[in-house]
Parts: sequence; structure tokens; C-alpha cells
Amino acid sequence: MKTKYALISVCIFAGFAHADDTPKNIIYMIGDGMGPAFTTAYRYYQDNPDTQEIEPTVYDAILVGMAKTYPDDDTFVTDSAASATALSSGVKSYNGAIAVDSDKKPVRTMLEIAKEQGMTTALVATSQINHATPASFAAHNESRRNYDEIADDYLDNEIKGHLPVDLLLGGGVRYFEREDRNLAEEFKQQGYQYLTDFEALPSLQTLPALGLFADKAFPFALDENPTRLEVMTNKALSLLQRTDNGFFVMIEGSQIDWCGHANDIACAMAEMDDFAKSIALAKAYVDAHPDTLLVVTADHSTGGLTIGSNGKYRWDTEVIKGVRQTAWPLAMALAKSTDIRQAWSESVDWGLSDEQYQQLKQAKQSEEPAKALYREVKDVINKQSYTGWTTKGHTAVDVQVFAYGKGSQKFVGSQNNTDIAKQLIEFIQ
Ligand code: MG
Ligand code: ZN
Repeated sequence: MKTKYALISVCIFAGFAHADDTPKNIIYMIGDGMGPAFTTAYRYYQDNPDTQEIEPTVYDAILVGMAKTYPDDDTFVTDSAASATALSSGVKSYNGAIAVDSDKKPVRTMLEIAKEQGMTTALVATSQINHATPASFAAHNESRRNYDEIADDYLDNEIKGHLPVDLLLGGGVRYFEREDRNLAEEFKQQGYQYLTDFEALPSLQTLPALGLFADKAFPFALDENPTRLEVMTNKALSLLQRTDNGFFVMIEGSQIDWCGHANDIACAMAEMDDFAKSIALAKAYVDAHPDTLLVVTADHSTGGLTIGSNGKYRWDTEVIKGVRQTAWPLAMALAKSTDIRQAWSESVDWGLSDEQYQQLKQAKQSEEPAKALYREVKDVINKQSYTGWTTKGHTAVDVQVFAYGKGSQKFVGSQNNTDIAKQLIEFIQ
């Protein structure tokens, strides 16, 4: 008897499984360049040294699988455009493609499908909002470099008579207030509130809205506002919470990648922290709204980050935590200073060894002191912390997939980046 009842209940469960699994709201978060080494590094970076335990991170709490990132050619190494196209549409394309396939034909994105279904849509990024990752959700272009045309699409790419995106938060004023076309003005005519003052963001209470808080991208988290993505995520979720027909939002930690390209570990950890706190907010949103699905992944890894380098079995997070500026402003300060040690101590909590001092002094006396210092400052910090990098570009390592909430079990295991998109589209349709 017991077996029979169990069988019946299994059948009933299976019959309702699809309807049961389909989330009403989707929060899709992309850490640009956030390969597995970045999430591991972040765990050690945020560890409380006073406890024996290495405290788990929000990434650890929701890890479910891995994704392959190769583009539609024979290189294996993707850029952010091809990968975002795969992650938005389920179609692999060439590097540089913004939601077009290898024949440069537009491909339907999940954001467009969500809009078609009458859902509320949103894009949030710390780069310019028309940068490759967000662009691949609401624009179509043969090249990521056509920034003006991509921004135009946010107005011209109408879905059933509506603009594709109800809420845009990021940077990029220069692409929206142009001589040839004032998109900001056109957005206002379409009923959007237009904000450029980040301090005014808390006062935003209704949709639709366009918030552009930097000429291009936001400054790095380490240099200015360490919580700008967290603040925007909080605002976006509180606005989207009030929508009736479900919502789709893509939130990007855009600049993890840029710190990776720069091989700047302090820069990268500050970006990871802002992204982690944004994920924690999204996870809490799912706890309060169990009809919501949170999926987090990366488009690729950047820089070939290595935790431990030069044969030393050690990675020193105190060194990294002691650096309070990214490498460029630090190099500029050193270039302008008359006293290297003094200028260094204004941005870094640990002192230079004699050898490191000589290294920076030599760079300062070279023909291009700012450039040379920029290179050597990072060399000093990377060596002192035993951080390794293999490239200034991207790498083809698989990325992690994190999921939480309704439907999250669909992302368990090894998958292609296109499979993530296909599953999300299945949920939205
Ligand atoms: Mg990006
Ligand atoms: Zn990149």
C-alpha cells in the first residue's frame, strides 16, 4: 500500500511539475569576466581572519553547475558580446556580435520575449548601459563598437508598440544626449523619467525610467562608490516588485572584467564585493518572493587569475585589502609626487621594501613615468600578494552557474551558456 501511494503522489507531482516550476519573475545576473578563480579569491578575501573557518560566500550558497562559453568559431575564447548573445538568446555567435547570429541576422532575446509577454523589463549595469552585455538583451548590431546605434535600439526596437526596456540603470550619458539625436529627450517624450544624479535615485518611485549616472562607465568600486551596483539593484527590485505581470531584469557586474584586463587584483575584489552584495539582495528578494528565480553566471573569465604564484604556497589577502585605490590613480599619484614612499602610504596600508621602492623609483625616472608606474605598481602588488595573471585578455575556462528559487534545479550540472538562455526562455514563454 505504501508503495502505491508513493507512486500516485510521484505521478501527480510529475504532472504538475512544469507549471509548478515556472517562475513568475526572473533575476538574471552576469559577472563580466567572473571566472571560478574570482569567486574563490573573493571567498579568501572576505574571510574573517579571526575565525578558524573560511566563511562561505553568497556564491557558495547558490552554486549549481558550470557552463561552457566558447563562441561560434574555432578559437574557444569568447568576448563579452558573443557570450552575452548566447546568454540572452540561446544562439552562439561570433566575437563582437550584439544579439545577431553568425550571418548577422537578429536573434530574439529573452528580454524581448518577456516584453512580448507583457512582463516588465529592466537592465542594470555599472558600465555604460549600451555596453556589450546589456546591449545583447535589447539591441541588435553586427558590432559591439556601434555604441550610438545600440543606444538608438533602446528606443527604436519596439516590441508590440512598447519600448523594449522599462527600466535602464547604468552609465552612458554621452550616448543618449548626442548632437545628432537626443535619446534622453525622446525617452522623456515616451513617458520615462530621466535621472542623471545618483543621489536622486532613492527618490525614483515609478516606471518607466532611464537612469544614467556617468558619462561612460561608473568609476571603479574601489576608487569611488563601493556599493553603486548594490544601490541600483535594491532600487530596481523595489520598483519591479510592484509590477503585476512578472518581470525580467538583467543585472551586470560589468567591471570585474575590466579589473581582470588590467591585472589589478584590488580592483577586482572590490568589484566582486559590490556584485556579491547585489546577489545577496536578489537572494533575499527570492526568499521574500518564492515565485522568483535568480540565476547568476559569468560570460567568461578574464586575465587568467591565479591564486598563489611564483612557486609560493600562499596568497596574501591582507596585502590586497591594504590597497585602497586602483592602479591607475595610484600610479598617477606616484608620478606627480616628490616622495614615492609618502604618496604610496596615502593609498596603501603596507610599506614598500627597499627593492620595491627602487623598482618604482626607476619607473618614475623612465620616459613615460605614469605608464611605467602603472605597470610596476601592479607588479609590486601582485608579487607581494602572490597573485598571478597569464593574459591581459579573456580565457576559455568554464564558468560557474548559480541559481536559487523557483526552477533553479534546471541549471544543475554541466551545460552550455546557450542552455541557460534556452531554459530561461522556456520559463518566460
Ligand atoms: Mg559586460
Ligand atoms: Zn573583457
